[in-house]
Amino acid sequence: MAGILVIAEANDGGVASISYELLGAARQLSAQGGGAVTALIAGDEAKAKDLIAHGADAAFTATNAALASGTPDAYVPAVEAALQASGADIVLLGQTSLGRDLGPALAFKLKTAVAMDCGELKIEGGRLRATRAAYGGNARAEVTFRAALQIATVKPKSFDGLEADASRGGAVTAIDAAGTPRVKVLGTSKPESTGIKLEDATVIVSGGRGLGDASAFGILEQLAGLLKGATGASRAACDLGWYPPSQQVGLTGKIVSPNLYIAVAISGASQHMAGMAGSKNIVAINKDADSNMVKVSKFAIVDDYKKVVPALIEEIKKLA
Ligand SMILES: Cc1cc2nc3c(=O)[nH]c(=O)nc-3n(C[C@H](O)[C@H](O)[C@H](O)COP(=O)(O)OP(=O)(O)OC[C@H]3O[C@@H](n4cnc5c(N)ncnc54)[C@H](O)[C@@H]3O)c2cc1C
Repeated sequence: MAGILVIAEANDGGVASISYELLGAARQLSAQGGGAVTALIAGDEAKAKDLIAHGADAAFTATNAALASGTPDAYVPAVEAALQASGADIVLLGQTSLGRDLGPALAFKLKTAVAMDCGELKIEGGRLRATRAAYGGNARAEVTFRAALQIATVKPKSFDGLEADASRGGAVTAIDAAGTPRVKVLGTSKPESTGIKLEDATVIVSGGRGLGDASAFGILEQLAGLLKGATGASRAACDLGWYPPSQQVGLTGKIVSPNLYIAVAISGASQHMAGMAGSKNIVAINKDADSNMVKVSKFAIVDDYKKVVPALIEEIKKLA
């Protein structure tokens, strides 16, 4: 029996947004013949019902307290039990701190492979075909599996979650299985961030190496503030110490998909594009008309940002 098992995650007492994105991906696979969608989440029935409202046909609640450790040792037996009960042959996890560890651990235990950090998934000939970045983001690799069980971790923001539909029904079953964690989590800490989170922002103003120095981020923050958005940066700008690495957009940074992405003095290298190509509207501000960012943008202003950004700020202020 084919089917898809989504490993959902909890966050601050609720369900983490990656879980809805995984369910969105799973529903697409299901429509292509992937079978029924089942979700597993550590926690209570309310979370399981929320997952059903967002697209799962049924859900398991993993109730064993050991899962609170978030370690693969604790999770693997729970996932095995869910696989046995659901008959799923595809497992989807987020490319998150849980998924990065649990995906490979599951693949090792269940004698199969895992495709990490996938951005596209489809069913072809009844089997999963996953697309992921290769060679540092310069190429895309399509992979399939030899073993019956197919495991993939999914890059955040690659799929849209579905709107909740409270009328959707499905069975909720508790699973008590868990392993003994060999790793003891002594504490967790979150990076300090003020204002709108990059991943949640509908408008992002990002700056690159072409800004010339760290202080230029001041006017980008001003522009982002007027547009009620967040400020991001290219890796080159972060590596130079001009902006915090937590705000880096790209293959090795944050994946974002805002309505408006304003790229200021960023060339548009493939590794940067890997993080923001899903933006609904890209605006480039760049001196070089031949830069990739200008080519992929919906609108481009080809000039020195030192002239363009202050003028843009003045015009926006007039509209306020
Ligand atoms: C494995 C790997 C992972 C990577 N991951 C990431 C990642 O996650 N994110 C990322 O961003 N990069 C990443 N990179 C780096 C990436 O390849 C590029 O080097 C980087 O994105 C370039 O940053 P940039 O566009 O700011 O700088 P540049 O490529 O130097 O571009 C600067 C741009 O500014 C323009 N400019 C200059 N002066 C002005 C001005 N006064 N006004 C207007 N425009 C001006 C120039 O025309 C140019 O287009 C990665 C690389 C590797 C190998």
